[in-house]
Amino acid sequence: MQQNIRVRYAPSPTGFIHIGNLRTALYNYLFARHNNGKLILRIEDTDQSRKVEKAVENIIDTLQWVGIEYDEGPFKEGDYAPYFQSQRLKIYYQYAKILIENKKAYYCFCSEERLNAIRQEQQLRKVPVAKYDKKCLSLTEQEISDNLNQKLPYVIRLNVEPGRTIKFNDFIRGEVQILSDLIDDQILIKSDGFPTYHLANVIDDYLMKITHIIRGEEWLPSTPKHILLYEAFGWELPVFAHLPLLLNKDRSKLSKRQGDVSVEDYKNKGYLPEALINFIALLGWNPKDEQEIFSMNELIEKFTLEAVHKSGAIFDIEKLNWLNGEYIRKKSNFELLILLREELSKSKYNNNDYSDEYLIKVINAMKPRITFIKEIYEKGYFFFEEPESFDKDLINKFSTTQYTEILNTYLKEIKNIQELTKEDLENLIKYIVDELKIKKANLIQPLRLAISASLEGPSITDIILTIGKEKTIQRINKFIEKLTE
Ligand code: GLU
Repeated sequence: MQQNIRVRYAPSPTGFIHIGNLRTALYNYLFARHNNGKLILRIEDTDQSRKVEKAVENIIDTLQWVGIEYDEGPFKEGDYAPYFQSQRLKIYYQYAKILIENKKAYYCFCSEERLNAIRQEQQLRKVPVAKYDKKCLSLTEQEISDNLNQKLPYVIRLNVEPGRTIKFNDFIRGEVQILSDLIDDQILIKSDGFPTYHLANVIDDYLMKITHIIRGEEWLPSTPKHILLYEAFGWELPVFAHLPLLLNKDRSKLSKRQGDVSVEDYKNKGYLPEALINFIALLGWNPKDEQEIFSMNELIEKFTLEAVHKSGAIFDIEKLNWLNGEYIRKKSNFELLILLREELSKSKYNNNDYSDEYLIKVINAMKPRITFIKEIYEKGYFFFEEPESFDKDLINKFSTTQYTEILNTYLKEIKNIQELTKEDLENLIKYIVDELKIKKANLIQPLRLAISASLEGPSITDIILTIGKEKTIQRINKFIEKLTE
């Protein structure tokens, strides 16, 4: 493997991290760690109009939450600081000047009106790509310096040579070709003095010694422009690897309209970071075996760019849900206790004082049947409060003297047991079934209903052992009243 691998995750701080960008960050991280390389976090904040308050903090917190550690970046300064593009403006300008001197770029003083007129005229002619007409390329040195002296607003444009084919090899997609005629004379420095994405991105990748550019497929159309810049500067190309698109189940592009797209949404919904990382790792990468559950360390060990595929990756939320449940079940009761307490503190049960022992019993009962931690008290609400509402049809079904008698017998017998044990409770069920010559379900069902208002859920003995004898008796009594109303 190549020495000194350096990759980067280069988000623009325009809001919460999109799930696709988290995948980009993850693949860069896995690739860096797998190859003993370095991951750089670079904040691409040159578009001042799209800047969002707290977005950088959010990016850093999110990476930390999922366990992606960068080696250089904001608050972790390395040899190539600063890592905020807005703090590197002078650098971009210096490099733009070099391009101007080499005639690879030029000043353009055209007004907004003129540019609009060109665009409209080209639209009328239905030209495939609207392009600047290079008028300012023919300005003389004198004209340029006069304009600059007069402080006329200007941009700096890339001088794209027409009639060429730009070719490059993408590690994932293979050879890509595009005609230079389809590329506009890109603006490199805007009239506010800020660089555009293309210029700043290429200069920084070069200066920060990035060896592999791993990013989403949506950046593929920008790459030929970057290649032109590398050529113009005479720099060696890095390896480009464009990751496949993320698709909805119907193969449309993953978008907000069809569901959540920000990592924040998934966090708030109660997805565990381990589950999300495992899920995202498999969106575009295939380890070519049956294994589905991967820890971060296993991902680092197995990840290679060769195993990233180019076809779109389907975002299957059911798989994410399944993984979340699996990760919950892999956790120790102690870990779950901490997570449950955190969730409870945000719930309507936040004022209650539950003992660790009680919550661990509830966790044990609910753990096999949940996808999210909060379902411990949502689906298992009967551990936290007395059920009040019962299904009318079920009440009708059990409103017969036979069922009241069964429940009364159970009540009478359970009262005689001093200390409830699993064994006692199981024996009690057997005893009543034999004594009254009934089917087991004829006891279990009304009992379940009385205690948890549902015919499904954890085993009835587990529920009774958790809530205790007193509450059990209270609930059965209340239920009998309901049946006989
Ligand atoms: N700033 C770009 C983004 O927001 C970076 C794209 C790239 O990786 O080149 O994703």
